[in-house]
Formats: sequence, structure tokens, C-alpha cells
Amino acid sequence: MSHIFPRNTRVTLPTAAKGDGCYLIDSTGKRYLDACGGAAVSCLGHSNEKVIDAIKTQLDKFSFAHTGFFGSEPAEELANKLVAQAPTGIDRVYLVSGGSEAMESAVKLVRQYFVEKGEHQRSHMIARWQSYHGNTLGALSAGGNKWRREMFGPLLIEMSHIDPCYTYRYMQEGETEEEYGLRAANLLEEEILRVGPEKVAAFFAEPVVGATMGAVPAVKGYLKRIREICDKYGILLVLDEVMCGMGRTGHIFACNEDEVRPDIVAVAKGIGAGYQPLGAMLCSKEIYDTIAEGSGFFQHGHTYMGHSLAAAAGSAVMDQLTEPGRMEHVRAMGEKLSAALHDEFGQHPYVGDIRGRGLFRALELVSDRGTKAPLDPSFKLHAKVKQNAMKAGLMCYPMGGTVDGKTGDHILLAPPFIIDDSH
Ligand code: PLP
Repeated sequence: MSHIFPRNTRVTLPTAAKGDGCYLIDSTGKRYLDACGGAAVSCLGHSNEKVIDAIKTQLDKFSFAHTGFFGSEPAEELANKLVAQAPTGIDRVYLVSGGSEAMESAVKLVRQYFVEKGEHQRSHMIARWQSYHGNTLGALSAGGNKWRREMFGPLLIEMSHIDPCYTYRYMQEGETEEEYGLRAANLLEEEILRVGPEKVAAFFAEPVVGATMGAVPAVKGYLKRIREICDKYGILLVLDEVMCGMGRTGHIFACNEDEVRPDIVAVAKGIGAGYQPLGAMLCSKEIYDTIAEGSGFFQHGHTYMGHSLAAAAGSAVMDQLTEPGRMEHVRAMGEKLSAALHDEFGQHPYVGDIRGRGLFRALELVSDRGTKAPLDPSFKLHAKVKQNAMKAGLMCYPMGGTVDGKTGDHILLAPPFIIDDSH
């Protein structure tokens, strides 16, 4: 009898036994092509020797040195590599164990930054509907997936949410993408003015929305306008690249493609690539200096932050993500995947939209292409799609959450960057 408390008590899952490149193999020897990296995690596949060696080498030196007592070389190295790729102005790296911790840290850093600046009245945060920023309470408060929030409503921090940039559902007839992007971004200004600009501390967004909408990139110009609005009112821009970052879109930081400079950016998933639990919150020099020259102490922290084995893994992952040709391969394979999806499903009666960037792609499922009604408000089909795919030896990531009737049902694909034509 199992004593594990699983995610879903009603399903019986195969037991993972071995990893082999783009495949996971279960205890019966059945192979599964990992077309979603679990949840956009396994960007280097499942048996990457360089990452495994880096962990072993570090393990032979030491595994844990509490960050309240010691600094460490792997953490310094990883931070340097991240900052070298990060958008302009990003200067410091706070290493944690995953995406929720990175976003939770961001929520608290925003607040402490304004307290240290003497702007105590700035505590209100604005995020977007149909987003996901993690399952801890601060991150969940920022998140805009109503299904995930519903149960915990009374425990959440009061934040406000605006509609996302979601061309398929919100762009109006006769509007160009550029006009729509401006209109969608200007919703932020309206909300800031409604709340009172002096009270607003930060705006949170995923540059390419992952789990809740399915690989939805903002249109060109949207994030730039968001940046302008944040600057106008002295508000911090926090980008969540936990799913879309670390090369997933064909750029190490997705926002670099949008030419937007965040004040804080969170990464996770691909940075540990599944070899270690790892996440990072990166912030600007200005935020860091405000705290360093103020109290000198970020009122936060986790026991396992900056763990040496996780940092060593992350550092070996970064080396490989930045290898010549790697991002070009992601972009080229992404285009091939997109073309194949269009060929196969472009006319499918239940596929409303096919979208994404790099190796981050999704099919949006609808019951009617004309009305765009979501296919499966009850979620029952998602489980079935996943089960049937697993039966066929394929891992894909069907998701949705149609509590408001708008969130798209979708199947997300986020394969390892080592895929080739044979896969
Ligand atoms: N932010 C985004 C955009 C995510 O997609 C996720 C996870 O799916 C998280 C945060 C939370 O990350 P984790 O599950 O590592 O806590």
C-alpha cells in the first residue's frame, strides 16, 4: 500500500524508472516521448551527462552550506551566468528552490523595497487574469487562474487583476495587433488610476503565458507600453519567466525578444532542467542597492536557498543553454513543430488556435470554432487526453480552467531542446 499523498487521488500513475534523452521509461520498460518536459522543465532531456557530472563533482566537495554562514562557488558562478544573459539593469540573483518561491520572494521584495524607500503607502499589486505565478499564497494571490484561487479566496492577499494580452479571444475586429496591444496595455493605466498611483507597488506578468492559457505571447509593443506605464507611475515591473524563460522561447530570457527591461524577473523550471529543484529571482541594481544601503537585510529566506548541488546543476545547464547554435536549434525546431501542428490540426473542428514561440507551443481546444466556446469546462477531457497520450507513449500537457468561460482549454507542448526531426 502506498503512503504517498499524490496530486490526484483518483488516478494510478506508472512508476518512472529511467530517463533516456527525450524519453522517460517506466518500471515495465514502456517508453514515453516527453513532449512537454513534464511541465516545461526538462529542457535538456533526461540523461544529460554534463549536468549529472556537475552534481556529482559538487557532491564530492560538499552538499550543504547554509547561506547564513557561507557563500559558495557554484552559487556565484550561476549568478554570474544568469546576469550575463539577463536584460539590461538586472544585477543580482536570489537563488531559491522553484518557481513559487521565486515569485513569493518577488512579492515580498517589492514590498520591502518601497518600505526601505519610505513609500510605505505602496503595497497594492496588480496582475492579470488567466495567469499563473505559483501555488504559495503570495504567488497565488498574484495568479489569475480562478479555478486555482477559488478554494483559497479568504486567505489571499488583495491584489487586482486586468485582462491579459490574448489576441485569439480579446482582439476586436478591425483592430490591428499593434492597436490591440496598446489597448490591452492601457488597461494597466486605468487600473492604476482607479486604485490611486501612489498606492501601487508592482505589476506582474508572464511574457508568454504558460499553464493557464497555453503559450500565449503578448503582441509586439504590449510589454513596451506596460514598461512605459510602470515608469510613469514609479511602479516596479515583475516578469514571471518561470515557464517561458531559460531558452524555452528560443531566447534565454523571453523578455529580451520583446526588448523589455523588468525590475525583477523570476526563473525556475528550465534552470534546474529537472536535475535539481532550482529557481531564481533576479533584480535590478537599484532594488538591491536600496536594501543594501538601507536595512542591509532582505526580510525573507529559505533554508535550502542557494543549495550547492542545485547551483552546480544550474550552472552546467546554463553552459549548455548558451552553447553556440542551441537557441537557433530551439527556434528552428519550434518553427517545424508549429508547421506540423498547423498541417495536422489547422482545420480540426475542435482546434481554435495554434500558437507559441520557440519550443513552447499550444493548441487551444474549442467546441465550436465560430463561437470559440471552450471545449471542456468540466476538465474531464483533459484527464482523458493525458491518459490516452500516455497509453500511446506520449507526454503532453492538457490544461484549462474555464471558471469564467474565457480561459482557453489547451494542450501545451514544451519538448526538450535536444529534439530532432526523428522525434
Ligand atoms: N510561475 C509560472 C509562470 C509557472 O508556470 C509556474 C509553474 O507552473 C510557477 C510560477 C510555479 O513554479 P513551481 O511549480 O516551480 O513552484
